[in-house]
Amino acid sequence: MPKNIIVIGGGPAGLMAAITAARAGADVLILEKKDRPGRKLAITGKGRCNVSNTAPMREAIAHFFPKGKFLYQAFAQFFTPDLIRFFEEQGVSLKTERGGRMFPESDQAADIIHALLAAAKKANVIIRTSTPVQGLMVEQGRCVGVVTEKGERLPAAKVILTTGGASYPATGSTGDGYRLAGQVGHTIVPIRPALIPLTTAGDTAERLQGLSLKNAQVSVWVDNKKVTSLFGEMLFTHFGVSGPLILTLSSLIVDALGAKKSVMISIDLKPALDPKQLDDRLLRDIDLFGKRQSKTLFKGLLPASLIPVCLDATGIDSSLPANQITALQRKKLRNWLKDFQLPITGHRPLREAIITAGGVSTKEIDPRTMESKMCPGLFFAGEIMDIQADTGGFNLQAAFSTGWMAGKE
Ligand SMILES: Cc1cc2nc3c(=O)[nH]c(=O)nc-3n(C[C@H](O)[C@H](O)[C@H](O)COP(=O)(O)OP(=O)(O)OC[C@H]3O[C@@H](n4cnc5c(N)ncnc54)[C@H](O)[C@@H]3O)c2cc1C
Repeated sequence: MPKNIIVIGGGPAGLMAAITAARAGADVLILEKKDRPGRKLAITGKGRCNVSNTAPMREAIAHFFPKGKFLYQAFAQFFTPDLIRFFEEQGVSLKTERGGRMFPESDQAADIIHALLAAAKKANVIIRTSTPVQGLMVEQGRCVGVVTEKGERLPAAKVILTTGGASYPATGSTGDGYRLAGQVGHTIVPIRPALIPLTTAGDTAERLQGLSLKNAQVSVWVDNKKVTSLFGEMLFTHFGVSGPLILTLSSLIVDALGAKKSVMISIDLKPALDPKQLDDRLLRDIDLFGKRQSKTLFKGLLPASLIPVCLDATGIDSSLPANQITALQRKKLRNWLKDFQLPITGHRPLREAIITAGGVSTKEIDPRTMESKMCPGLFFAGEIMDIQADTGGFNLQAAFSTGWMAGKE
């Protein structure tokens, strides 16, 4: 008799777990809370689905926090090349963009979902939508099935819990799995937003809203100590700062704010120039265009919306002829260009986070099988676990790899 397996949640982790188990000969039923599976998947990568990354395993693991070590076994058995092959078998080719980010050739997340659903159908996986799971059936410490919201009791030889995180709740990821895992004794590392935009003090960000800095060096200061510095692209919004660089730094900042520490970011607007080179550049510009007003001179130095902010911060009058800028004002300007400070006041709410940090402690999951160490018969995959990564396709690769691992016999 084939083993019967229930997968809770039809996201990328659940679909991959189900396909893998069914291909190995099991009878698989996915219970999905929403009216259709893969709703979060549909909005990934702004609808283009950054499905994986070309980074080699060691490098990919370094993108995970708190530590990606837990993923070694899953990645060793099912990694990017396997995922590429999987999608190719379904007729979906992937392409690579900046930073090794992989997308479907068509730029359509829907193609990724269709490929998964087609593979599931071919393997005879049954998907029941609009069926939220309410509880787990446990007998003598072993998970033996699930209870749906309607009270239906469905026995299973193996239950795979893949309910995702708790952000973008409209997609179905409302954090139910944390409660289910908690009920059988799992430790839930406190959940918090990760890859989340940040709010800043004052009206500076609002004045700059829409401005994108492609080559900024951002340093994070926690309780007046510099803790990290990263180079990349950031964006100003009406409430604060966002963009890839800020999202990457956000986990560290969310945790520091949670610990009631003061956080400030310092933006180096001229990272390619050291202070001496920058001073030489300023002197050269002043020499060449000494009669121009400061605000005009700055056009060669800064994006337009930054000019009034710069003039305010340095106290330089906008109409002051450039050759009347004093040495002290030039020093202030130089310092500001290398150290544009923005105090961070908070972050956007969890529901707006790209991923949920925290979740089921990986210490209580066997990395070779994804089986619970607390409750045999129960397995985990995907974002429900306390694993999270930067943007770049790593989170989806982790969902697919751990899903594959949880589904294999
Ligand atoms: C806007 C946005 C963009 C993103 N872009 C990318 C990207 O480009 N690349 C990348 O790598 N990652 C991206 N991510 C992150 C990525 O989407 C997630 O990490 C990934 O979807 C996690 O997969 P999962 O299967 O673990 O969970 P989910 O995709 O969240 O799926 C969980 C499923 O479980 C179902 N469920 C929940 N509770 C129950 C219940 N009680 N009973 C039954 N079913 C239930 C839900 O309805 C859902 O279908 C993005 C996230 C967001 C929000």
